[in-house]
Amino acid sequence: MTQPLVTSTVKTTCPYCGVGCGVLATPQADGSVTIAGDPDHPANFGRLCSKGSALGETLSLEGRLLHPEINDERASWDDALDLVASRFQAAIAEHGPQSVAIYGSGQLLTEDYYVANKLMKGFIGAANIDTNSRLCMASSVAGHKRAFGSDTVPGNYEDLEQADLIVLVGSNLGWCHPVLYQRIVAARTARPDLKVVLIDPRRTVSADIAELHLPVAPDGDSALFVGLLAHLDHLGVTNSDYISAYTKGFEATLLAAEDWDIARVAEATGLSPLSITRFYDLFARTAKVVTVYSQGVNQSAAGTDKVNAIINCHLATGRIGKPGMGPCSVTGQPNAMGGREVGGLANMLAAHMDFAPETVDRVSRFWGSDRVAEAPGLKAVDLFAAMGRGEIKAVWIMATNPVDSMPEADAVRDALKACPFVVVSDMNRATDTMDLAHVRLPAAGWGEKDGTVTNSERRISRQRPFLALPGEARPDWWIIKEVARRLGHAKAFGYFSPGQIFAEHVALSAFENDGNRDFDLSGLGGADYETMPPVQWPVRSKPIARMFGDGRYFTPDGKARFLPIQPPPPFAPAPGSFVLNTGRVRDHWHTMTRTGKAARLSAHMAEPFVEIHPADANALGIRRANLVRLSNRHGSALVRALVTDRQQRGQLFVPMHWTDQFASNGRIDALVTSKVDPVSNQPALKMALVHAEPVGVR
Ligand code: SF4
Repeated sequence: MTQPLVTSTVKTTCPYCGVGCGVLATPQADGSVTIAGDPDHPANFGRLCSKGSALGETLSLEGRLLHPEINDERASWDDALDLVASRFQAAIAEHGPQSVAIYGSGQLLTEDYYVANKLMKGFIGAANIDTNSRLCMASSVAGHKRAFGSDTVPGNYEDLEQADLIVLVGSNLGWCHPVLYQRIVAARTARPDLKVVLIDPRRTVSADIAELHLPVAPDGDSALFVGLLAHLDHLGVTNSDYISAYTKGFEATLLAAEDWDIARVAEATGLSPLSITRFYDLFARTAKVVTVYSQGVNQSAAGTDKVNAIINCHLATGRIGKPGMGPCSVTGQPNAMGGREVGGLANMLAAHMDFAPETVDRVSRFWGSDRVAEAPGLKAVDLFAAMGRGEIKAVWIMATNPVDSMPEADAVRDALKACPFVVVSDMNRATDTMDLAHVRLPAAGWGEKDGTVTNSERRISRQRPFLALPGEARPDWWIIKEVARRLGHAKAFGYFSPGQIFAEHVALSAFENDGNRDFDLSGLGGADYETMPPVQWPVRSKPIARMFGDGRYFTPDGKARFLPIQPPPPFAPAPGSFVLNTGRVRDHWHTMTRTGKAARLSAHMAEPFVEIHPADANALGIRRANLVRLSNRHGSALVRALVTDRQQRGQLFVPMHWTDQFASNGRIDALVTSKVDPVSNQPALKMALVHAEPVGVR
């Protein structure tokens, strides 16, 4: 365990999911750390889930990278940083700025992200900085921008308690955002008339609180919501006053939807007409509806269209920007939202600004750089594909493990093996990505880091340190600015604290912002940074909990946009193949580098498994707990059979967490397709086709 930095209780934020719960961490005399939920934090009011409450058990130094390494040998910070700077410099000089890239993570704090983005887009002059958040919520970003003119999350968590109907779409909130689930359970206990509908191919634990579970066919959600729009119009419950005052494009969108009657929706979704009608009527007659959606919507080749199909229904009924109403995207990672804010995605410049000529000019003047990137860069899947083609000569991977978490992960591993120069900065030495690094840089971990994160309701919270930096570990922002300094940008990167970086981020958000941009942090930071309580943006004169309450959007004319949606044709896998769905389990996080340290978390699910329907298992001769080999042309994985009718026939579910570090041949993302949504470039992580066969069964 690292040495404590303080002996008193520190208010910080959980480093796992996008709920962003407040945590009270208290280092003890015996070296342990006591963890409790922060009763004052508006995300959780003292609650924690199993992962959050076990945080104190994940802080050992086992597996930590404690010193810089060059080619597997311990090195000094100066030598490592000099080498990183010189190899990036050489690649840029010989092949141009597009030949280098950064691949970051929703684990980075906003301050880290800001400095990385500024270096790549502002001073290297290419936008090849993307992030594992591309795998998580890029479709929501794209859908928001198409509908609202900005990547603005409309609502807040209180809406869940104020709603009369909560529709969960592609979201197993019970395991993936457990504290929000706890809040809904508590609200239902106090108010039994609060209804929940679950739309998910699997009957997950979240079905336990649902009046209605709709086991929609893979990618059938677009058709379900397009049909809902037609049904709302048919019933005459659309809000014509709202539509005419605050939106554009309704007629064309309705025209595209009008053929989607219940019979056609039933055919596209695999649902019974009766259950579709029940859902539609419930939605139609309930004013206060919140539609919560997550990776089942986003991680699809039609993800952005699904997002807009949902938003269309809320705009058509005027159910947005009001208490207890609205579409609600819940993000997977602790700082997916902060990454969006600073421009951590390759298609965003900074402070929620795109690459329009006037914004490039504005950011150039603010940063004092004449080489700001003028066009989007390579997004995650394209970035590693370009690397595989030899086009990326130097890459820096920060706080993530793409060798296990990217789709077609074996190809990503091959691309990294072939890349001439790979830098990885992370807290963990024992990852499959770290194994391939030429230079390893030890980064600070949770409990040591100092900065901010933004959760799914746009609430910025502080992560505060309570442990000393172990070994020679350093904060990410420090590592990046030291490389920037060696690249000749000492003045622009003369940071000495995260508070100073946050102040610059605040200033950029407010720079030439007369209210025409959604993202505005004016008034935050400065002397109050250390004690800053959780706060929702935009701040301006006072924080705004629900955006769009005045019906004003961030499009040029201030009106929201309907998007006509053409649902994809029903998905029909070839005989003998299964649709592979991947996702999280309750007690593990990403590739288990932290949760794998806590015995009680591993006790919940001890090894990788495949959920398979009893009829499919029977047909293949698979019995409970048999080993099963899953394979396709991208790779194979070995998992344990979990035979259950929670799974639909023809579909399989495998958790994404296990890697070869924890289970032999357990990397399920080797099989996942790298097909992407054409608008968001988010991969279809839930729609791979695989074969299944029992192993060692006679
Ligand atoms: Fe952490 Fe999410 Fe659990 Fe809250 S719900 S304690 S943020 S993992």
